[in-house]
Amino acid sequence: MRHVDFDPDQLSEKADQDWWRQWLSEAEAATAALILKWRASEPISADDFQSALWKALKVWLMEHVFHGKCAYCEIHLTGARQPGDAEHYRPKGEVRFVPDGRRRSIRASAYDEKGNSVDHPGYFWLAYHWRNLLPTCTMCNRAVKRNLFPTEDRHVFVIELTDDRLGELSEEPNETPIPFEAGSNGYLLPPMALDQHEAPQLLHPYRDDPSKHLRFGEGGVVVELSPQGESSIRVYKLDDNDLARERQKAQQRAWWQYQAAFQHAEANLNMTQDECHAFGWTFLTDWKDGREPFSAAGLDYVVYVKKAPEL
Ligand SMILES: [Zn+2]
Repeated sequence: MRHVDFDPDQLSEKADQDWWRQWLSEAEAATAALILKWRASEPISADDFQSALWKALKVWLMEHVFHGKCAYCEIHLTGARQPGDAEHYRPKGEVRFVPDGRRRSIRASAYDEKGNSVDHPGYFWLAYHWRNLLPTCTMCNRAVKRNLFPTEDRHVFVIELTDDRLGELSEEPNETPIPFEAGSNGYLLPPMALDQHEAPQLLHPYRDDPSKHLRFGEGGVVVELSPQGESSIRVYKLDDNDLARERQKAQQRAWWQYQAAFQHAEANLNMTQDECHAFGWTFLTDWKDGREPFSAAGLDYVVYVKKAPEL
């Protein structure tokens, strides 16, 4: 997993801007329909969701932002056998977590608009929020995660906001809190505000720098550097043996590319040791900018296992 810089407000191509304007307006209408249903006290079922909308975003993100890779494990998603899932970071239909010292997950509770403690209904108002949708492989989305969303603090459903706080939040693009009912001061929060209240324990590629939480070592293994790293390894199943083997192959490829360039520079280009290192790194550009599958594992191997000076 690695950090990904993405914000649709920063797109420079007109075709991309047009695509987003259209997608955001459809997402907004679909979100409004779900909230209307909820306000009418009707339960939201799987049939109420328009999966075509999040599938379209998944395809766009895979092509334009994630270099065809899973947002969590960096495996390459290809063709009919591994088309990738549109993963909801915050689950849309139910929220579960595993309490400390227990083995089985339970449903998360939250406060409703009347201040009553209820089973969290799922973050249905984020079903089409771009910050909540990521392209992932089937394994990361379904093997363990499903509706799990561990947090440090309590899960939030409807929350009361003061006018000051509401003003602050509304200044963020695409992050406006949604009034639960007209005239009420209970709101459904957008992703960034929820992050502040809930302190999620799962890493998110837009928000976090995964290199501060995860470290990849010999044989493609992954270890945690933080509690969020530990939860993410467990819930995204990043310690899967098959995945480790794939990462190991990528690590060997990264090291081979670096080393072959270094040795060529040393033997043929009359370079100093420092210049040979720098030359070696120029062959790892695709790893540094994330185009290679398992780029985080490949770079960690070169730097922390093989001890090549990091440039
Ligand atoms: Zn994955």
